[in-house]
Amino acid sequence: MHVARTGPTLGPAGEIAHAPPLFQSANFEYPDAAAADRAAAGGGFLYSRHGNPTTDGLAVAVADLEGAEAALTFSSGMAAIAAAVFANAAGGEVLASEGLYGGSIELLAELGPRHGIRSRFVPTWDLNTVERAIGADTRVLLVETISNPLLRVADVEGLSAVARRHNLALIVDGTFSSPALCRPLASGATLVVHSVSKYIGGHGDLIGGVAAGSSAAIAALRPYLILLGGNMDPFCAWLALRGLRTMPLRVERASATAVRLAAFLARQPGVKLVYYPGNPDHPDYELAARVLDAPGAMISFEVADGIVARRIYDRFRYFVRAASLGEVSSLVTHPASFSHKGLPADERARLGITEGLLRLSIGIEDADDLEADLVQALAGIV
Ligand code: PLP
Repeated sequence: MHVARTGPTLGPAGEIAHAPPLFQSANFEYPDAAAADRAAAGGGFLYSRHGNPTTDGLAVAVADLEGAEAALTFSSGMAAIAAAVFANAAGGEVLASEGLYGGSIELLAELGPRHGIRSRFVPTWDLNTVERAIGADTRVLLVETISNPLLRVADVEGLSAVARRHNLALIVDGTFSSPALCRPLASGATLVVHSVSKYIGGHGDLIGGVAAGSSAAIAALRPYLILLGGNMDPFCAWLALRGLRTMPLRVERASATAVRLAAFLARQPGVKLVYYPGNPDHPDYELAARVLDAPGAMISFEVADGIVARRIYDRFRYFVRAASLGEVSSLVTHPASFSHKGLPADERARLGITEGLLRLSIGIEDADDLEADLVQALAGIV
């Protein structure tokens, strides 16, 4: 991974800071009018909503990890997704996965129509359904590498081929896999977006987003970043650069623990279903082995009903009862009352998001401790 070394020279030997410098500055000074002209002519720093050496440093590092020509950082994952959708789907239609993050569904279903963008939601893990659903106005395919909360895996190569045949932009939200497990641009995606708030930051202490792609695809997003004002704060970029340095290790460790815990859960008599792409009974087990470097650190499982699920939820000692995912601590959520609370109950049931479903984000704690926590939380209940 390349971390841009943009720091000033600190001493007579030409030494620079080893850690990426934090340029917590709104604007930039010019020694004279000629220098101001050069900055204004392009490429120079003007004002941090337009660009900042620390946020640019994070963009360069993510572009490097994703094999992208360029990247842009945003104030949140939602700001990155909104820019990607609005820049590519204006006046047309988005064909989106029905397993999208709730915020992305609301963006498409509620804000999209107010701005001339229509959306339909389909099971994007079925390529035939996707291809049949494409209409004359479809401009964008929007999927997540691993869906929430049932962890279906996107066949990025297959979807890219469909997108190419119909001249669509394929936008892949790689938040659940992180750049450590999947690089969708190499399989033909137009743009990859991430909530930096999750695995890239990795410590539950920031909200940020990033989009990466070809220079042209990223240039098309730039006005949406600058004019809607969803730019990342330099300190957030600095924290994310620090998180990025350990991301591969964190994701590898969490994923290895998840493989073990998912197998453990599958052996528990009271656990009706385990959703984990690393378990052989998952519908995308073979696809996951092709698309992902490891099956990831998210596990969902279903118990008898909502009462049992809520009792297990209350009993956890190591798993933290909190929204979000992808951080050093293991987290537990109840999707029916959190991320998918806004969906009508019958739609939730159709999607398989029952009252008995719990979602785990595995962190980097000791695997024995996490398994012991599951043992005590499930004891006598399942
Ligand atoms: N994409 C996915 C898959 C997410 O889970 C989330 C947040 O949970 C987002 C995007 C939105 O990211 P942010 O909260 O950084 O805006």
